[in-house]
Amino acid sequence: MAAVVMDGKALAAKIREQVRLQVEQMEHKPGMAMVLVGENPAAQVYEAGKRKDCQQCGIYYETYRLPEDVPQKELLDVISFLNDREGIDGILIQFPLPAHLDGREIQLAIRPDKDVDCVHPSNMGDLTFGVDSFWPCTPAGVMRLLAEYNIDPAGKNCTMVGRSNIVGKPQAMLLLRRDCTVTVCHTKTPDLAAECRRADILISAAGCPGLITADMVKEGAVVIDVAVNRDGQGKLCGDVDYAAVAQKAAYITPVPGGVGPVTRAVLMENTLTAALRHGKG
Ligand code: NAD
Repeated sequence: MAAVVMDGKALAAKIREQVRLQVEQMEHKPGMAMVLVGENPAAQVYEAGKRKDCQQCGIYYETYRLPEDVPQKELLDVISFLNDREGIDGILIQFPLPAHLDGREIQLAIRPDKDVDCVHPSNMGDLTFGVDSFWPCTPAGVMRLLAEYNIDPAGKNCTMVGRSNIVGKPQAMLLLRRDCTVTVCHTKTPDLAAECRRADILISAAGCPGLITADMVKEGAVVIDVAVNRDGQGKLCGDVDYAAVAQKAAYITPVPGGVGPVTRAVLMENTLTAALRHGKG
């Protein structure tokens, strides 16, 4: 039987509407600032999406565009300015940064209570220790999708393909916190197919089109495709061979329209949370 398609667009719309309704009641609205370094076209698209989401939710939004060769000190000054601004509750820096910048120093410079994408080491640490600060938007989005379809990770085996700091590692932590048994795979995993076949929940964030084929998927598994790639024709696709895997899995996320929209919606929710913690209401 064909898998249930996990509709990220619908869930995102629901989350945004919940945020909008809460923001509508607030006298002092939440505010978010995005900092972009350089002219990366993909980053410009993300920026436009965030602006639109904020508009829809009633969140104040501003962008800081800095040149590709911006000195570290100048970027730190912008962050310090935003840290002190009362109108701004969430700060988002578009990573990756150009090679001449020290990304770690930038992450450390963001005030943790404004770190709505959870890049500050103290927020990542809280996540590991099970203390709630902010959850990073993409792994949080995956957890929201699972909850929306009443999939309880407790007692299940999850294989996470990818160990990046923004997806794989925090995703593993969140699943552990929900009593899941997690295996994290990467480019040096000797038998990826075998690890994937054991999974009740298979999550892929490798960035390799066609990596996950139907023979790597257990019958009835939940398959979450985090990746956003371009295929040979330039069309958006994930890591999963969608058509074939959808015949074997019980649940599957499409690309586009799966994890991506929920990630964006969680950012709105995190900004609202930050504003409430700042005493806005
Ligand atoms: P990354 O390049 O930092 O990490 C990729 C990880 O996958 C690495 O740990 C690597 O070891 C592993 N990997 C790569 N090829 C592999 C293979 N053949 N076998 C096993 N492991 C392999 O990437 P990232 O920043 O974590 O992003 C991963 C993907 O997720 C990208 O396609 C990115 O565009 C997408 N992404 C989507 C969202 C979203 O909201 N949907 C958010 C962030 C990233």
